[in-house]
Amino acid sequence: MADDVELLVAGGGLNGMLLGIACADAGLAVAVVDRQDPTTMMGEAFDGRASAIAYGSKLVLDGLGLWSGIAAEAQPILEIRVADDESPLFLHYDHRDLGSDIPLGYIVENRVLRRALFERARALPSFTLLAPRIVGTVTADDSGTVATLGDGARIHARLVAAADGKDSPLRRAAGIRAVEWRYKQTGIVTTVVHERPHAGIAIEHFLPAGPFAILPMTGNRSSIVWTEEAALAPHLVALSDAEFAAELSARFGDFLGATRPIGPRWAYPLSLMQAERYTARRLALVGEAAHVIHPIAGQGLNVGIRDIAALAEAVIDARRLGLDIGGDQVLERYQRWRRLDAVLLAGVTDGLNRLFSNTVPPVKLVRGLGLAAVNRLPPLKRLLMSHAMGTLGDRPRLARGERL
Ligand SMILES: Cc1cc2nc3c(=O)[nH]c(=O)nc-3n(C[C@H](O)[C@H](O)[C@H](O)COP(=O)(O)OP(=O)(O)OC[C@H]3O[C@@H](n4cnc5c(N)ncnc54)[C@H](O)[C@@H]3O)c2cc1C
Repeated sequence: MADDVELLVAGGGLNGMLLGIACADAGLAVAVVDRQDPTTMMGEAFDGRASAIAYGSKLVLDGLGLWSGIAAEAQPILEIRVADDESPLFLHYDHRDLGSDIPLGYIVENRVLRRALFERARALPSFTLLAPRIVGTVTADDSGTVATLGDGARIHARLVAAADGKDSPLRRAAGIRAVEWRYKQTGIVTTVVHERPHAGIAIEHFLPAGPFAILPMTGNRSSIVWTEEAALAPHLVALSDAEFAAELSARFGDFLGATRPIGPRWAYPLSLMQAERYTARRLALVGEAAHVIHPIAGQGLNVGIRDIAALAEAVIDARRLGLDIGGDQVLERYQRWRRLDAVLLAGVTDGLNRLFSNTVPPVKLVRGLGLAAVNRLPPLKRLLMSHAMGTLGDRPRLARGERL
């Protein structure tokens, strides 16, 4: 049976769309299937998050022709200040410490990212978007894979990528176990306008319930990721506008003058998940289907983007050599490349969350001293900055700013 496409991507979220674009841009025949209507996914009410896009991820987006549709709405992050509850000790990252003009990263609204992805996909002749459609079952053997969609249509492909999110039906169907737990925390997300400019400074303020992040957006706006106890979050989200504004400003402070929340409030339950394997027969897990981390360091999507850059490179290299893109060699290369980075970040973000969402005095003292120590050690600080920027380690070509 001839293949309908070479790669089938289940899930057209940020990671699934990006993988489809990376592979179709290099000439692969790709279909991306999502159960949601693209018009809904691009709407204002779909996803209130703004993402911290690391510099390495920006290179990937740029290399795939996406950045030109994003740049005007991307706010460069020039400094990051990390402050602990009432302690005066804080950690300060400044992009100038790295001796270049390159920002530490960018804050981009997820709806801006989605719009750019859908527009770019439309311009690629070998990219097919099937949405709203559901991927039901997938079977695989030596000769290829067959995905049966919810409406009974069958799609033959060499390789299936599961980009179907943290509850990944394909991961479960493949019998891949996962280590997972829920944090007793919810991420409340909203946008705030303020009187004074933020000067490109991102702030992470550790409060007893968890981190309260103020992320600079274009204009005098900031995106708030307010980690709160899961039991309290629904009450906060349901407050009247005036009450919510008062709660928010008590945490935000007045350093940017008067503040006013605008637009809807979102609540995201927070969890951690690590799939035991990232691959099965002719199947690769990417993004949150493979790993979910705490948003404390704004890295979840960035890890996903590194998955995409690695899988696309393994697939395209194999295709150029005339090899089977769904073969074990490709899948092993992908898993070897990605697993350590994702597992390490899960450990680091989990540890940071435990360390900072804690009011026990000795723990507070130790973390205060830790922040101060890092601040006084420029080489360590530069190393941490480079890691957060995604410019360390064995990076795929796209993440180094090269073509696939
Ligand atoms: C509060 C918060 C703040 C965050 N901030 C940052 C940040 O600053 N920086 C950062 O890097 N990351 C951040 N993240 C993480 C980031 O948002 C996620 O990692 C990313 O959005 C995951 O995208 P995804 O495409 O893997 O999954 P999803 O967005 O979940 O997409 C999965 C898609 O699969 C589709 N689907 C599922 N099952 C099927 C099926 N059977 N058939 C067809 N389609 C299907 C769904 O409809 C969905 O569109 C944050 C997360 C949270 C919760």
